[in-house]
Amino acid sequence: MKGEHVLIFDTTLRDGEQAAGTSLNPNEKLEIALQLEKLGIDIIEAGFPITSPGDFEAVRLIARELSSTTICALSHANKEAIDRAWESVRPAKKARIHIFLSTSSMHLAYQLKKSQDDVLKLAGNMVAHARGYLEDIEFTPMDSTRTDTKFLYEILQAVIESGATTVNIADTVGYATPGEFGRLIESIIKNVPNISKALISVHCHNDLGLGVANSLEAVRKGARQIECTVNGIGERAGNAAMEEVVMALKTRNDLFHIATSIDTSQIYKTSRMVSELTGFIVPQNKAIVGANAFRHQSGIHQDGIIKKAGTYEIMNPREVGVPSSALVLGKLSGRHAFKERLLELGYALDEAALSHAFKAFKELADKKKEITDRDIQALIGEELRTAIEVYHLEHVGVSCGNHSMPTATVRLTGPNREVLADAALGTGPVDAVYKAINRIVRVPNTLTEFSVSSITEGIDALGEVLIRIESEGATYTGRGSDTDIIVASAKAYMNALNRLLVSKRSPREENVDEP
Ligand code: MN
Repeated sequence: MKGEHVLIFDTTLRDGEQAAGTSLNPNEKLEIALQLEKLGIDIIEAGFPITSPGDFEAVRLIARELSSTTICALSHANKEAIDRAWESVRPAKKARIHIFLSTSSMHLAYQLKKSQDDVLKLAGNMVAHARGYLEDIEFTPMDSTRTDTKFLYEILQAVIESGATTVNIADTVGYATPGEFGRLIESIIKNVPNISKALISVHCHNDLGLGVANSLEAVRKGARQIECTVNGIGERAGNAAMEEVVMALKTRNDLFHIATSIDTSQIYKTSRMVSELTGFIVPQNKAIVGANAFRHQSGIHQDGIIKKAGTYEIMNPREVGVPSSALVLGKLSGRHAFKERLLELGYALDEAALSHAFKAFKELADKKKEITDRDIQALIGEELRTAIEVYHLEHVGVSCGNHSMPTATVRLTGPNREVLADAALGTGPVDAVYKAINRIVRVPNTLTEFSVSSITEGIDALGEVLIRIESEGATYTGRGSDTDIIVASAKAYMNALNRLLVSKRSPREENVDEP
């Protein structure tokens, strides 16, 4: 691609992760971070270290393990938070600290209870404090789009003077519209005298569905960093979606003349991984990564596509790494074909994991005639989930019907490979299974969400169960898939419980002060 370059700043692990219902453990965060590096993300915001020991640990782990990406930690505008952020990103080859502070009169009056002068001084002092540790400092005037513009220019000038190298214009509440947001960027370039010493970034929320549009318009007017998340996850309606921003810039390069460092063929795999680990299901009609994004239903469109793809396709699905679904595996497919398919889907398993997955594949092929890519992805998801287990589900049996009491028996292996079995009655089969598991695992929790969906069409389809449980103020997601939905429900519950047990993180503080 020709033209200038825009940095892609990914905050899936911070803004995305703090979204209601998501709670990833440090190893899962590392797995996502490694994939983001492969994708070519320039800066990864890995967490908000002051908020919990788990966040701190995750940022440190990512800072240690990644080799080329800049690792950023978010911080309040106070010394304690900045020191903690610095400790966490210190091992990174390239590190950044991102300080935020509210600047809108609404936030100043009701939340911070500080004057504009106080905020101005504090912002400059805290940026200078962080500059004592490292050179790469980002500053966000939170709620920028509802901040008095004259004050916004002043605070930007002050933080740049104190050493901020990136200034991030945040539409924290997703209130701006594209024309207006573009004009704000233009006016900042015109009215902040030292703006050339810093790079302008944008952070747009999607409350009005304008997060991507606002980000793109800002780039047209001179912003050179976009903050975004995979699948657009994040607070409330989420953030600008990475895949949409990147593909819009690529597909319409004729208009933008702006390049990114993203290897777009990694987009689909990254999307699947984030959906799998966070439990945020990608809607079918989601742009770029939804199941229907490249599917043509209309007869006229199908006819056109067969004659020439460009008639109704503005992007080639291969560009974003959507696997071709032409080849369907089945009972007779061998280990080699299975391995090739996995590689095409982006999974490189070691020999032991491959053998295990192949065995599971053969078992599935016995129950289901055609194994599609989605089935394989669900199967690998199941394999990845068992890798973090404290308790493993060995057996589940249920008896139920309209004249009997639903009864479940379960057998688990425990942390020391001991075999544990129990039984329970319930109001229904799933309730009975969960009660039997509770009798063994004994971790108090509340089930807050339970949903079943089928992965592919047909009566023999794999059922996927997604659940969320709450324990001591934190939420844990669990997923399970099986041709039997009671077994899938049991697997999902075990997955959530295992995550709860693995995660030693303390409850987070309220996230009302997020940029
Ligand atoms: Mn945000």
